[in-house]
Amino acid sequence: MSDLDLTATPDSDFLGFELLLDDDGRALLERVRGHMTSVVEPVINDHWTRAEFPHDLLPGFAELGIAGLPYDGPECPGRSALLDGMISMELARVDPSIATFFGVHGGLAMGSIQLCGSEEQQERWLPAMARMELIGAFGLTEPEHGSGIAGGLATTARRDGDSWVLDGEKKWIGNASFADLVVIWARDVEDDQVKGFVVEQGTEGMTFDLQEDKIALRVVQNASIHLAGVRVPESHRLARADSFDDTAQVLRLTRMGVAWMATGCARGAYEHALRYTGEREQFGKPIASFQLVQDLLVRMLGNVAASTAMCVRVSQLQDAGTVRDEHASLAKAFSTVRMRETVGWAREVLGGNGILLEHHVGRFVADAEAIYSYEGTREINTLIVGRAITGVGAFV
Ligand SMILES: Cc1cc2nc3c(=O)[nH]c(=O)nc-3n(C[C@H](O)[C@H](O)[C@H](O)COP(=O)(O)OP(=O)(O)OC[C@H]3O[C@@H](n4cnc5c(N)ncnc54)[C@H](O)[C@@H]3O)c2cc1C
Repeated sequence: MSDLDLTATPDSDFLGFELLLDDDGRALLERVRGHMTSVVEPVINDHWTRAEFPHDLLPGFAELGIAGLPYDGPECPGRSALLDGMISMELARVDPSIATFFGVHGGLAMGSIQLCGSEEQQERWLPAMARMELIGAFGLTEPEHGSGIAGGLATTARRDGDSWVLDGEKKWIGNASFADLVVIWARDVEDDQVKGFVVEQGTEGMTFDLQEDKIALRVVQNASIHLAGVRVPESHRLARADSFDDTAQVLRLTRMGVAWMATGCARGAYEHALRYTGEREQFGKPIASFQLVQDLLVRMLGNVAASTAMCVRVSQLQDAGTVRDEHASLAKAFSTVRMRETVGWAREVLGGNGILLEHHVGRFVADAEAIYSYEGTREINTLIVGRAITGVGAFV
């Protein structure tokens, strides 16, 4: 078989990007695909409607061994950024909420400890997180500080002997209500620098309010966190997080995961739409036979292929160690815009059925709205690229 045998990849991987993976990578991708299709897809709409996280599915996810995939810390998988990205796409292709759960636990929370923790802290937390015996959350955003969090972060950390006292509010924090560990970013009142703290569930003074009535990513449990005199030992301060530049290192790694998720969300919607157009008949023919319907299908496929190509290249730059912030920002901004367009077209070709959950496309349309905004909005990512290409920052 030729290395470029396109019959060996799914039809929706039209240009055969999966063939860039080695055999092990392909095997893992196919395992994740099988699991998502057979275990998650049949139950996910019900969880989405009830806005409940499928805790009973966690052991099955743990067996896949994909938490913290690109990290090479103790007992972490240490696989390529390209494989990690394709797995994110694969998760989102069936359900963007599950992809987001992994983005928070395996991406942001494990990434904070991998990049900012001491060796001892990595040994203490990463193996159990990789096995998903401990689940993580990442608390950065605040009610009054979203895009402007770097300069605005108002949660405070005050050193008191061998411990720190945290006070403030966080908003939107995924997994927070059930995570075992929440990474809280707070400003040291002494030196005004942002530092990271691993706060264990149940620590006195840390309480949550679930974000209810979301119209997107309803399976993800987002919460506001209230921190009132929360005391954490010095051993829980991430030893290598000295300023917001270190927080940004984590975001730099995970932003690409979101670009891949956007591509997966678009791809899932396209696949459902394509299948539907072959089954639905009007005027005595499958609607797939109408030129205007084919036009939308081909536009969707073009968006998915273009977004995948950009994600592949930026992930290759990550693996080569030459990626820059603006590369990931371009991929996130581009693929989320294309995603929004694609899910809209998918909904269009389903007619009225496009707004019913049973056909899945409606869930992708809704979930796309959250992916569009989190981990840097389109505007913020555009400004990052704009600054890089013009040399002039236009943020304020
Ligand atoms: C579902 C979901 C999950 C999330 N999970 C987490 C999580 O786990 N942990 C966490 O810490 N955070 C999380 N977030 C927060 C997320 O990262 C923020 O929502 C995001 O950074 C945008 O901030 P904001 O919503 O406050 O919007 P704002 O910053 O208030 O922006 C509002 C609008 O103004 C625009 N804008 C802002 N500044 C400028 C500017 N300088 N120039 C031009 N336009 C500008 C923005 O682009 C946007 O269109 C999550 C959010 C969502 C929706």
